Amino acid sequence: MSTFKDLGLNEDLLQAISDLGFTEPSEVQQKAIPVLLEEDRDLVALAQTGTGKTAAFGFPMLQQIIIDSRTTQGLILSPTRELCLQITNEMKLYGKYCKGLNVVAIYGGASITDQAKQIKKGAQIIVATPGRMKDMISRNLVDISKITFSVLDEADEMLNMGFYEDITDILSHTPKDKSTWLFSATMPKEVAKIAKDFMHNPVEITVGNKNESTSQVSHEYYMVNGRDRYLALKRLADANPDIFSVIFCRTKRDTQKVAEKLIEDGYSAGALHGDLSQNQRDLVMKSFRNKQIQMLVATDVAARGIDVDDITHVINYQLPDEIETYTHRSGRTGRAGKTGVSMVIVAKSEVRKIKSIERIIKKEFEKKEIPSGMKICE
Ligand code: ADP
Ligand code: MG
Repeated sequence: MSTFKDLGLNEDLLQAISDLGFTEPSEVQQKAIPVLLEEDRDLVALAQTGTGKTAAFGFPMLQQIIIDSRTTQGLILSPTRELCLQITNEMKLYGKYCKGLNVVAIYGGASITDQAKQIKKGAQIIVATPGRMKDMISRNLVDISKITFSVLDEADEMLNMGFYEDITDILSHTPKDKSTWLFSATMPKEVAKIAKDFMHNPVEITVGNKNESTSQVSHEYYMVNGRDRYLALKRLADANPDIFSVIFCRTKRDTQKVAEKLIEDGYSAGALHGDLSQNQRDLVMKSFRNKQIQMLVATDVAARGIDVDDITHVINYQLPDEIETYTHRSGRTGRAGKTGVSMVIVAKSEVRKIKSIERIIKKEFEKKEIPSGMKICE
């Protein structure tokens, strides 16, 4: 087992790592950092959420960019605004002793003029969502013609969200001889195509497997009558007074409705979905991160990739349309070696979906009763 020092990181980064309390590198960091510290290496890394990917590409990038220069040298593409902000914050923490470092986040829903102004000041690293990045390139507000490192984070998610064209367009504005580091939980055809078309002999690493990565999470389901879903949710919250949870709904409308009802009923809750303004989304994420709210009611898209520590429960208020999405949801808890519970509230008619999920996650659900004296499912 190597230490961060063994991996070849410099003093500024080791100091930041020690401040963060990271004692040893995670598996993806062990495998990726030495490769990425070599010159001109491309990388394809398959790793689930919560495995420490940001630091796996963040440290090698911070070590190799020239901080004295104001030229943009690193571009990190990520699927959502929330992830973009999260990576930007992490990079700032990792680079806190790199004097003069400027990391700028570029994402939709916020003022493009403000973002352009920040870029103008000289950003060595840009963290961007593909849509806004493409927009800024076409308006000549950003210059990525001299970057030396590009990262495609959560590549499968970006492609799922329809960003293929945007990504290829963005990459066509970057130098051919840059290094490209691709991170993805899965390897669908489109991701393989990007790797083939834009990367040179990438080193491939795989970390753990789906099975192991969810092993910190236990899965439970609660059968209710469809109309009793909300009541069941309240019971689950009552039975777990210290709950710190993400509650997933299928639609923006349901998300808003459930959050409003919870607040009305005196629970500590907030909503996160795509119909809110960027400002509202930032605010609710901040209160959740600070644990000022206990229950974040969210859609899948809005919650994608969110990394908040210590989430005790993921509650599937409704199952996702795509069964595969369940893995992403339950991955919000049980992170960094902690344990977590993923609960599903199901109507009788959907109970067979639990079997399909069990096949995907290769784990069994425990069937449990809604805690309370009153029977809400006969
Ligand atoms: P991923 O991108 O793979 O989903 P993140 O990079 O968001 O994972 O990291 C998940 C969490 O683990 C973050 O809170 C991060 O600060 C923490 N973390 C990362 N590396 C380490 C480490 N070596 N030791 C302890 N915690 C770590
Ligand atoms: Mg990540």
